[in-house]
Order: sequence, then structure tokens, then C-alpha cells
Amino acid sequence: MKLTNIREITGIIRLRSGLHIGAGKDSVEIGGMDQPIIKDPVTQAPYIPGSSLKGKLRSLLETSVFMQNEGTRRAVTEGKPCDCGKKGCPACTIFGSHATPQKCEDGLGPTRLLMRDALLTAEYMDMFKSGRLPMEVKHENIINRVKGVAEHPRPLERVPAGTCFTLNMAFRVYEGDADELLNWVLKGLKLIQLDAIGGGGSRGNGQVVFEDLKIDGQPVSLDSITAF
Ligand SMILES: [Zn+2]
Repeated sequence: MKLTNIREITGIIRLRSGLHIGAGKDSVEIGGMDQPIIKDPVTQAPYIPGSSLKGKLRSLLETSVFMQNEGTRRAVTEGKPCDCGKKGCPACTIFGSHATPQKCEDGLGPTRLLMRDALLTAEYMDMFKSGRLPMEVKHENIINRVKGVAEHPRPLERVPAGTCFTLNMAFRVYEGDADELLNWVLKGLKLIQLDAIGGGGSRGNGQVVFEDLKIDGQPVSLDSITAF
């Protein structure tokens, strides 16, 4: 397969509500935050792993527009990412197939989308380094159904609303690829805006808006893109 182009998709991810992307239990210190956020081990600055963004983009597209594809529909029903490995499957083409190489049909080619980690923008990194961007702690409770009172408060660390991260994706174009592959990525971004990223999206965490979006330096808008 001949690589004919690499498109660059850039922009800003602005948080509209606090973001929680968990660091995992093994990195919790004794006496530390119960539910810490993921941070760069060197700078301690929060970031959004590319894998988190890519996973969200994939699952939203698979459960909406890609459901018309039989293999994807079957995988989604089983609660898994598509692993059909079929040529022409948008999920497997854009995001890569989870199928074994034997199952992958020739012609599917390499994963088209490369999602980089989203780091704080220069402005917010300066604020973070000078101590003007403290992380916030939200307490989530369980309401006791009998007494009607909140119990078991668990501190949840969040990146505060308003914080901006850089969006940076590369999209490989191979000979014969349909233009709609890249349009689906934009549709996925629109779906993320209507949904959320990170943990606790159904409880108000992780709402984002994409700003200053560009493809190869040319402005694009999500306004004209329909989510469904
Ligand atoms: Zn597939």
C-alpha cells in the first residue's frame, strides 16, 4: 500500500467541567489522594493520554455511525471494539483492528489515526509551573436510600474547568482511501463534545470543547458537522 499523505489535525481542548482521568491504583501513595489524576512523571503536570482520546473517539463512532457495519455491530453488542479486520470497515481501518493477523484481510493497511498525548498549552503550563493552576478535589458521595443523607465521601481529583490542552493527531492517507475516513474523525470529535472524556462523564465530569481546529493549518469548524 502506498502512503500518499499525512494530514495533521491540531487544535485546543478546553475543559468545560473538571476532568478526571485516573492514574490507576498502583501509583497511589499511602495517605495520598484516593482517586488521583494521571500526571507526567517528570513535570507532575496533568495531561490527557492519546490512548484515552482515541478510545473515546473509537467507542463513540462504533456505537453510532459504524453500527451499520455488521462486524462492528456484533462487536459492540458484545461490548468490545470491532475486530472484524475486514477491508472497508471504517473502525478497523481508522483505529486499527484488534483481530489476529490471520483474520486481518489484506488491504486493510496500517492504522490511519495517530493520537498524541494532549499536553497543557504553553499558557496553562506556565500557570501550572508557577503554582497558579491548582488541581481541584471533588467529593462524590453515595446517598443512603433510607436516611436520605450523603455517605462515604470519596475525594476525586480533577483538572479544573477552563484548562486547555493541545490536540494533535496525524492521519495517514493511503492510495485509494475514501475522503470520508477523515470526515469520520471530525464527526467523532463532535460526538466527544456532546459526550465527555475521562471518568464520571455521567456525573458532570470531563465535558470538553474543541477550539481553533485546523487540518494542515487550514481552519475547520465542527459547527457544520452533524453528529448523527
Ligand atoms: Zn472492523
